[in-house]
Amino acid sequence: MNKIVTKFGGSSLANSNQFKKVKNILFENDNRKYCVVSASGKRNKDDDKITDLLLSLHDKLLDSDASNRIIDILKTRYLEIVNELNIDFDIEGTLNEIINVANKQSTPDYLASRGEYISAKLLSLYTDSYFLDTKDIIIFNDDHKIDYDLTYTNIKNAINQLEQDNPSKKIIIPGFYGSNKSGEIKIFSRGGSDITGSLVARALNAKVYENWTDVSGVYFEDPRLGVSPNVIKYITYTELRELSYMGASVLHEASIFPVSQVGIPINIKNTNSPQDDGTMIVSNIPSFIKRNPVTGVAGKKHFSSIHIQKALMNEEIGFLSKLLKIFEDEKISVEHCPTGIDTISIILKTELLENKKDTILNRINKTLSPDILHVDDNMSIIAIVGEGMKYSKRIILKVFEILSDNDIQVKMIDQGASGINIIIGIDDNDYDKAITALCSLQDFT
Ligand code: ASP
Repeated sequence: MNKIVTKFGGSSLANSNQFKKVKNILFENDNRKYCVVSASGKRNKDDDKITDLLLSLHDKLLDSDASNRIIDILKTRYLEIVNELNIDFDIEGTLNEIINVANKQSTPDYLASRGEYISAKLLSLYTDSYFLDTKDIIIFNDDHKIDYDLTYTNIKNAINQLEQDNPSKKIIIPGFYGSNKSGEIKIFSRGGSDITGSLVARALNAKVYENWTDVSGVYFEDPRLGVSPNVIKYITYTELRELSYMGASVLHEASIFPVSQVGIPINIKNTNSPQDDGTMIVSNIPSFIKRNPVTGVAGKKHFSSIHIQKALMNEEIGFLSKLLKIFEDEKISVEHCPTGIDTISIILKTELLENKKDTILNRINKTLSPDILHVDDNMSIIAIVGEGMKYSKRIILKVFEILSDNDIQVKMIDQGASGINIIIGIDDNDYDKAITALCSLQDFT
């Protein structure tokens, strides 16, 4: 059987109508047997995610008025789903039980995990499927890293057992949590249901991991800019990592490794438009797919550049290491570090300099005695990403032609050793204009 593991995000389970769409998608294909779910998300932009409500409930457990207000919101949201879908589930009793247990917990993990738990319970009842709790299956070590071998074995065994009873029934699995070796519930970082889906897909050696969300795939450029969004049909894991790092948020970062290691593709799909192909994330692009050199463009605003100039810097052995040590000591991560013969720039997020700028500059002055030292703020960084760029001799020319035609001054240029990205720094004020203009690169052959 060509096993398909599906994962539905919060927006796909936000209300009863979304649950109906999920059911249709699951039953449209017999191979979609294993389904991981998130907690219900926002129904509109001013709404709350269930996980956020549960986390604030944890903070307010000692304040009965405040906690009752949150419990009422939870009850109302779940009653809409239970009543509309005619599910036989005691939401009031379940919430009371959860609060009782939560009152005895010191960390928020248990309470935060209950959004996924209830989603999976409701969907399994609504679709007459098995419910498989991940509590004793996904196992964290004491350092909060997943025990992969144990987890894969547990998933396989638990699913085998259920399939022995009824091989055609679907299996609904809550995302986002597992437990440590003492049996206490532990959660992943936010958005972690993507990781659960990836672990299940890997354990079952699935043909594909379908990640269902509210967009029709990964976009060539940031869709928030209002440019008509263009979905990337195929993208490699490496390209996606570059784009995600630069702000194109599609999947939890840690969800890529379990499946990419064994070449299981991830298909990003849209619950609200299931007929769309979405984006296929793969290790290698199939040879029949024709792609242009640039796969996507992404960027982030609000960076600073610390410029250091010193005559004969190149002859001063250890200059760079002394400089970077200052940032290491101050626990500041450096994004880029372009160098000239007598100059170095350290590019980093402006927010990291808050309260530390003077200390850093004083230390640089004291340790390295530069001739010139100054900081420029308001820099945006844009990455132009594509495996095909390695083979294109004209792409750099084209990037700078576009920027110059749009009167955009380039403040920094960097290129990763892999050759699949070009990174440029520009003024924050030019950010939207630059991304919009660089969109034309998708047609550059
Ligand atoms: N519900 C959790 C969150 O909001 C996990 C997830 O949705 O993946 O972060």
